[in-house]
Amino acid sequence: MLCYPVQALRRPDLKGYRALRADLRLVKRVTVPARDAACWTVPTGYFCRIVCSEGAQVGDLNLFNANNINERLYTGKTRALNGTHVGLGDQLFSNMPYLRPIATITHDTLDWYGFDAFGGSVHDVIGTRCDPYTYNLLSEGGQYHHCCHSNLTRAFAEETGMPLDEASTHIHDVLNVFMCTGFTRDTGQYFMKASPVRPGDYLEFFAEIDLLACMSACPGGDCSTEHSSDAAACFPLEVEVYRPSSLPEGWIPSQVNGYDGTHGV
Ligand SMILES: [Zn+2]
Repeated sequence: MLCYPVQALRRPDLKGYRALRADLRLVKRVTVPARDAACWTVPTGYFCRIVCSEGAQVGDLNLFNANNINERLYTGKTRALNGTHVGLGDQLFSNMPYLRPIATITHDTLDWYGFDAFGGSVHDVIGTRCDPYTYNLLSEGGQYHHCCHSNLTRAFAEETGMPLDEASTHIHDVLNVFMCTGFTRDTGQYFMKASPVRPGDYLEFFAEIDLLACMSACPGGDCSTEHSSDAAACFPLEVEVYRPSSLPEGWIPSQVNGYDGTHGV
């Protein structure tokens, strides 16, 4: 039995969203440099595409409420409600006490991949982000400064004006855009394999609230081998933000969670 029966979950009007895609106007383009990160905003009701432009590359994505950075992507509950990997029609949820959809995936050119024979799939919400602390533990004290966690920290600090140590506390578990991952069948360990993403592929989402996004082009490149070094071929990623000419009829912005917060007191 599924842990979370989702029949009562208010699902997006995916057909309505996708109908808007016929008339989109590009309003912003951002390049996320290889082994580095960048921030950008997506207003409520706009679409955002993360585009593979030059070569197979994984992106580690953080999402914040642009008006309240304490509200941010909650991959744990996103996973519990959708599954280990997200795709067309899936909603990305924010942390408690807000816990609401903050983005909806409206197109995925890697939708064809599905789950492979090893149980691998793309766009997981199970990994955390490569980080220099784990690397330190696993490499007998090694120091590496371009893990996704550090890239995101630098970009977020620059965007917000926060000191690095404060900015780093806002960096959270990511949506692994384009990354191909799963769990080994025998030991249940997290594995990765070369991403099938190719130039021209993109993942697109609709912003249910005003979003501040921050994404790192992982030093692992296509994540076929290792991800805490400069060994892998690494490419930039392109981000495009689009304004639709209208919104679906009857659409309302995502509302913060209705629980009263008294916790039985
Ligand atoms: Zn990474």
